Amino acid sequence: MEIDSSRVDRPGKVDAVVSPYEMIDQNSCSDAQTSKESGQEEGVVAIPLRNIVKTLDRERSVIRLPSYEKVISDSVLYAHASRVLHLETNPGNARALVQRHGDRDVWLNPPPFPLSTEELDQLFELPYKRLPHQDYQGKKMPAYEMIRFSINIMRGCFGGCTFCSITEHEGRVIQNRSEDSIIREIEEIRDNVPEFKGYISDLGGPTANMWRLACDDKAVESVCRRLSCVYPSICSHMNTDHGPLTHLYQRARELPGIKKIFVASGLRYDLAIRSPEYVKELVTHHVGGYLKIAPEHTEEGTLSKMMKPKIDSYYEFKKMFEQFSKEAGKEQYLIPYFIAAHPGTTVEEMVNLALWLKENNFRLDQVQNFYPSPMATATAMYHSERNPLKKLSYKSEKVFTAKGEKIRRLHKSLLRYHDPKNWPIIRETLRNMGRSDLIGDGDMQLVPAEEKRNSSRPAKRPRVQKNSLNKSLNKSQNRKRPKK
Ligand code: SF4
Repeated sequence: MEIDSSRVDRPGKVDAVVSPYEMIDQNSCSDAQTSKESGQEEGVVAIPLRNIVKTLDRERSVIRLPSYEKVISDSVLYAHASRVLHLETNPGNARALVQRHGDRDVWLNPPPFPLSTEELDQLFELPYKRLPHQDYQGKKMPAYEMIRFSINIMRGCFGGCTFCSITEHEGRVIQNRSEDSIIREIEEIRDNVPEFKGYISDLGGPTANMWRLACDDKAVESVCRRLSCVYPSICSHMNTDHGPLTHLYQRARELPGIKKIFVASGLRYDLAIRSPEYVKELVTHHVGGYLKIAPEHTEEGTLSKMMKPKIDSYYEFKKMFEQFSKEAGKEQYLIPYFIAAHPGTTVEEMVNLALWLKENNFRLDQVQNFYPSPMATATAMYHSERNPLKKLSYKSEKVFTAKGEKIRRLHKSLLRYHDPKNWPIIRETLRNMGRSDLIGDGDMQLVPAEEKRNSSRPAKRPRVQKNSLNKSLNKSQNRKRPKK
């Protein structure tokens, strides 16, 4: 049964959102016409459009995406195709997708069901050498150095951050190794990997703390259509008990010959704060002075396009981190990561982020600009300048997107507001925004004035309001470049 993707998610028309918890009665196909009645090809069942969502048999249907030729010439159709693909990622209810490329069809099977713990253990315990291929012997391989003493405890991620495609690569349902299998791998490293000195560099996975976290109802999980279990808030069906992970850490660090186990994978702190005893365990025993976390931004407009939690949960985690570090008698710091130039990020939001960094005394060394990557929702946002997290149409909300060298450089410079190399471009921007008050040597001013006598000192952290600056910057970068 082939369904045109525009009937599943019609570009140009906003349909009522289907409840993700609606149970589909597979026997209620009485609305479907047989192929004979409808005069269609034998074997094809035509379903009246109004009933299509309720009556389709997901196991026997395939969605036809707009053809390759159409999506490359129409960015809204590209975003539509991306949106439909992301809605078909739950193996419990995903349908196959098909797309015309020239005179051929490309068929995309639905994602596979997650492996059981026993199956995953078998894969992880195959007789790997844990050494680079012999062709590389004697050569330094940074990637190998990074993973040499690190342990992967799980696969998958239910976060759904739009700039990331781990869900598409590894699935939304977490696949967990057993505690015994993980412990055996630590012992294997301890006993057999050359130059092991007792330090495990990471015990984690795509996300450090999703091990053993899962939807509490398998029936609901199999019909769920949400893109994320934790955005806009943590789903009430999500079991956030970090007890098993805490137990794993305790058991692992008590192994003979193990001096320290670090947790270096990215931590989902909005989940962690639900288990203070886990945060205590982590902070007391598994942080090496610095803990990297990724709020990615501070401003709500951008965070909503990234599907990241509000900055409030960062504050809550920071409070716990500092309290437990103090109780443990350790001087430890959080290192937050941010992304500049993400689709949806305006210059005003970048200035607010820079002010936040200054207020919190962060001087970031490593910063990253958003790059569109294959399959990510944010890539569709970047290309179409529309929001595929909502129903799409040619009239739907335009998403401001920093494209072009000048504005992307400006976004990145704002993350490194403390670098003198970036001061000229930041000064110019603030003046154009009518925010010269942020230039000067005051605590809440972003960059020093060329001449100190021009500085002024606002009393508290000022907010920057939306203005037409993005438009004018984008206009200038949209101008055709002269041919080389
Ligand atoms: S936890 Fe919530 S969002 Fe995640 S699969 Fe279960 S019902 Fe869906």
